[in-house]
Amino acid sequence: MNDLRTTIAYFAGPAQKAYNSGMRQSKLFSKTRREAPSDEVAKNAQLLIRAGYIHKEMAGVYSYLPLGLRTLNNIAAIIRAEMNALGGQELFMTALQDKEVWSRTDRWDDEKVDIWFKTSFKSGGETGLAITHEEPLTRIMSEHVSSYRDLPVLAYQFQTKFRNELRAKSGVMRGKEFLMKDLYSFAKNDEEHKAVYSKVRDAYKRIFAKMGIGDKTFVTFASGGLFSQFSEEFQTLSDAGEDVIYVDEEKKLAVNKEVYTDENLAKLGLSKDVLTEQKAIEVGNIFSLGTRFSSQLGLTYTTETGAKEPVVMGSYGIGPTRLLGVIVELLADEKGLVWPEHISPYEYHIVSVNQDEDIVKTADELYDDMVRNGIEVLYDDRQVSAGQKFAESDLLGITRRIVVGRDAVATDMFEVVDRATGAITKVARAELTR
Ligand code: ATP
Ligand code: MG
Repeated sequence: MNDLRTTIAYFAGPAQKAYNSGMRQSKLFSKTRREAPSDEVAKNAQLLIRAGYIHKEMAGVYSYLPLGLRTLNNIAAIIRAEMNALGGQELFMTALQDKEVWSRTDRWDDEKVDIWFKTSFKSGGETGLAITHEEPLTRIMSEHVSSYRDLPVLAYQFQTKFRNELRAKSGVMRGKEFLMKDLYSFAKNDEEHKAVYSKVRDAYKRIFAKMGIGDKTFVTFASGGLFSQFSEEFQTLSDAGEDVIYVDEEKKLAVNKEVYTDENLAKLGLSKDVLTEQKAIEVGNIFSLGTRFSSQLGLTYTTETGAKEPVVMGSYGIGPTRLLGVIVELLADEKGLVWPEHISPYEYHIVSVNQDEDIVKTADELYDDMVRNGIEVLYDDRQVSAGQKFAESDLLGITRRIVVGRDAVATDMFEVVDRATGAITKVARAELTR
C-alpha cells in the first residue's frame, strides 16, 4: 500500500520540474535492450520496454522508469496548463472508494459496473479502487457549494485509476492501472454548463495539437450525452486502435459505431456517402451529466430568488498514459521512438563519438554549460562504440542529438540532428547553451 500511495502522490505532485535538468547516461539505471518480452504484442509497449522507459510487471500492468516518467510528466504538464487556463482548480482525491456513495447512484454493484477492483477492510466493510470520480467529488462539492455565488466551479486532478480490463493487447493504451486527468464542471444551469463545455472542448483540441496528434484526432459523436443525446469522444486514427469510427475528413467530425445509424446521421447533418470507416483509439471524452449525480447525491444551490436547484454537471477525461502509447504508435519509426518537442524526456541528447581526451573535455564542458542554464539534456558519456551510441540514441527518440566529434573540438560548432526528420544543422556552442 505504501508504494502505491507514493506512486499516486508523485503523479499528482506539483513539482513537475523538480528534477535535475541533466543526466549522464553512465549513471542512468535503465538500460536499452534488443528484444521486448515475447508476450508483449503492442508496438508501443515493445518499444517503450526496449528503450527502458517502462517495465512490464504483468499483462496490462506497467511501471514507469525515469525516462518514461519524465515523458509522462511532460504530457501531464501540457494538459495541466490548459486546465489552469480554463480556471480549473487542481485537487487530488483518494483512490479508495466508499461503497455507500456509489450505491446511492447505483454504480457499485458488479452487475452494473463490472470492472471494479474491490477488497475489504480488516475492520469490516468493502472498498473499491477508483474507476472514475463523479460520486466522491459530487459529495465533496455538496459540503462547499451552497449558493449561486459559488458557481461555476471547475475542479480536476491527475489520478491513478484502476479498471479490471479484459483486453491487454494494447500495451500502455489499455492499462489495468492508468493515469487519468479528470475534470468535473459544476454550473448553475444548462446555459452556463454549455459555455463551460464548449471551452473545455476547445482546450482539448489545443492539447492534442500540442502533442503532435491534432491532425489525426477527430471529435467523434458517441452515445450517452445529455444534450442532443450525444457525448463527444476525441478519437485518434491508428491501426492499433480498438474502436471503429466513421470519419468526415472535411468537417473534421466522426461518429462511433453506436451512433452510426441513418436517424442519427440525419440529426447530425452527416452523410454516409462521405464517411470513411477507420480504426481509432479514444484519447479523451467529454460528457454532459445534467443533474443525474447532483440530484442523487444532494448537490443543490440556492438561486438569486431563494429557490433550491440541483447543480448541472459535466465530466471530461484524458488518459496521459494512453496518450504516451498513442504518440509512440503514430510517430515511432523503424529505428525507435520519436518524441514531439514538448514531450521528449530531454530536449537534447549529447553523444560523444569516442573517449579521446579532447573530445571528452569538449563534451563535458558543453554538458556542464547546458545543465547550468537549465537545459534538459541527456549525455551519453559511456565507453561504448559510436555506432552503438547512435543506434541507442535513435531508439530513445530524444528530439535533438548533438554529436561531439573531432570537428566540434576544432571549430566549436556542433552537429545537431533532428530525430524526426534526420535534418542536420551546425550550431555554435553559445546558441546551444543559452
Ligand atoms: P475505452 O472505451 O477505450 O475503454 P473509456 O470510455 O472506458 O475508454 P473513459 O471512462 O471515458 O474511457 O476514460 C477517460 C479517458 O481515460 C479515456 O478517454 C482514455 O484516454 C483513458 N482511459 C480509459 N481507459 C483506459 C485504460 N484502460 N488505460 C489507459 N487509459 C485509459
Ligand atoms: Mg473503458
